[in-house]
Amino acid sequence: MLANKERRELFSFLSTSIGDVVKEKKPQEVIIRPPYFGDINAFGIECQNCEGLCATSCQEQIIIIGDDKTPKLDVSKSGCTYCDDCATACEVNVLTLENKKHLDVDVVIDQNSCMSWEGVMCFSCKDPCLEDAIEFKAMFMPTINQEKCTSCGFCISRCPSYAINTQERK
Ligand code: SF4
Ligand code: SF4
Ligand code: SF4
Repeated sequence: MLANKERRELFSFLSTSIGDVVKEKKPQEVIIRPPYFGDINAFGIECQNCEGLCATSCQEQIIIIGDDKTPKLDVSKSGCTYCDDCATACEVNVLTLENKKHLDVDVVIDQNSCMSWEGVMCFSCKDPCLEDAIEFKAMFMPTINQEKCTSCGFCISRCPSYAINTQERK
């Protein structure tokens, strides 16, 4: 049985070999905060005197400290394992284990960009999803079951046609 990390790395390798119908990548527009904050205003205050401890603690390297000195997640190359490391590293309780939650975004598939919605067989996003949240109709037309999805973001970088995006939670 493959561990979660190994399983994701294996499917990452496989998906890159499928990507011959690659479309232009869209920039991530939604701001995603680490999944342990309580008061969102604390980022603008407490983070100003921090050297970005949360970012250096993240083994997935998805936390970016912006010009405003606050942490934002970039899930374009990897995703969040909800490992608790960023919350443990934060010394001023902007991030705390008590406030653990799923990432505050919806992850969705753009049907106009998805190869499967165009009739090409592709399961690049389905296989790395540990929640089995990506559902296909007769092997095509995938959609993300928001009841199952944890918004971890691991499917996003696996899509050869950049059809999976984050959007503000409804
Ligand atoms: S460790 Fe805490 S205080 Fe430092 S940048 Fe991250 S969230 Fe802000
Ligand atoms: S929970 Fe872990 S993987 Fe997710 S942002 Fe924090 S340190 Fe990174
Ligand atoms: S973001 Fe949702 S659909 Fe994508 S891998 Fe994570 S749980 Fe699965």
